[in-house]
Amino acid sequence: MKIELSVFLATISSILITLIMAIEFIEERKKTMVEKNAHLKKEKCEVCTSIYFISSTLKYWRCPYCNSLNK
Ligand SMILES: [Zn+2]
Repeated sequence: MKIELSVFLATISSILITLIMAIEFIEERKKTMVEKNAHLKKEKCEVCTSIYFISSTLKYWRCPYCNSLNK
């Protein structure tokens, strides 16, 4: 089977573009995940001693397990 060079090159370049876009998309998602994690802090509930990851911007948080308010 003979493939014309221009068709072959067009196919290769479209595959490459798709690959680059996919890699960029994955990298962008990774960055967003890391940023999200950076805003989380580990907190221990004073009442039931369960450990949760909560947003560091919160002053108070409610324990999902025992429902008590923590600082
Ligand atoms: Zn608790």
